Amino acid sequence: MRAFSCSRCGSLVGFDDRTCLFCASPLGYVHGIDRMRALDDDGAARWEGVRRVPCANTAIGCNWLVPDGEGAFCIACRLVRRHPHPGDELATEQYSLALFAERRLLFQLLENDLPITGHDEVDGGLAFDLLSSTTGPRVTIGHANGVVTIDLSEVGDAYRESLRVKLGEPYRTMLGHFRHEIGHYYWQVLVSGTPLLARCRELFGDDSTPYKAALQRHYSEGPPDGWQDDYISEYATMHPWEDFAETWAHYLHITDTLQTAASFGMSLGGLIGDKLAPELLGALTTAPGYSSTGYREMGIDRILDVWHPLAIAFNQINRSMGKDDLYPFVITKPVREKLSFVHDVVAARR
Ligand SMILES: [Zn+2]
Ligand SMILES: [Zn+2]
Repeated sequence: MRAFSCSRCGSLVGFDDRTCLFCASPLGYVHGIDRMRALDDDGAARWEGVRRVPCANTAIGCNWLVPDGEGAFCIACRLVRRHPHPGDELATEQYSLALFAERRLLFQLLENDLPITGHDEVDGGLAFDLLSSTTGPRVTIGHANGVVTIDLSEVGDAYRESLRVKLGEPYRTMLGHFRHEIGHYYWQVLVSGTPLLARCRELFGDDSTPYKAALQRHYSEGPPDGWQDDYISEYATMHPWEDFAETWAHYLHITDTLQTAASFGMSLGGLIGDKLAPELLGALTTAPGYSSTGYREMGIDRILDVWHPLAIAFNQINRSMGKDDLYPFVITKPVREKLSFVHDVVAARR
């Protein structure tokens, strides 16, 4: 994520902000710039000769702008195919919170120039079904034929945390769900049926393995012994598709967090591998390769070499605040190779 400033007063504002805390201007987001646009008195912003108006979901927290006359909803909201009935207040509140995570996902897809063809454009296009099992029937999180389904009840911290503990996961967030499920979508769009599939199978395994049986085995037997050597998470051991989606999600976790650090000009160092090397303090900047477009041009080795000390530092910072580790995962050599593949898939798009 980038650090944004208010286009009227230049103060630091956040990606989700709808008002500048310093000059009180109402704000709107347009992708591709580092400044949040302050709205004029008529409630619109003008930029590059285009009049832009707030997305119709502004009442439930969306701060994105849409070119006037190009439909009521921004791209993030337009991709939502099913959502709670507005009369269902609890589910609508959950929906509003889930859209914060969905917009953050969309930011990264746009930043990486990944193809986004919506369900309203083609059959099997990308769609989000954001439904709540709190007030309706059971919802299973997943992806099928372009449709990402998310159970909105997981925006509730207590409920999501109870699932995390029950499943023995070190990390469970709404943004993580979105990043994982979109991984399945991009496997279908960018890997399946392309020359990349052969290499994908070498690294992740044969995806024609029956999924249902793999799922049952995973929940009855658990992960294989020593899984940590080859997989980023227990869930990734279940089936090659899940391994790919988990790795994809981690690629997005890592590059987004690095971009945020770079955007604030953070530098680090002090570590060579796992050895403390105080003489290197400040030697490693998160910025090389960082441009206004993220980590497009940076090699995966460099990305992970910078990520390693950054993750260690953030884990220690979190512990200083009595929180759990920011990044409770270990990237082994086989996982590094899988991440490298995901990087290539994303880079191939450019
Ligand atoms: Zn301002
Ligand atoms: Zn919107």
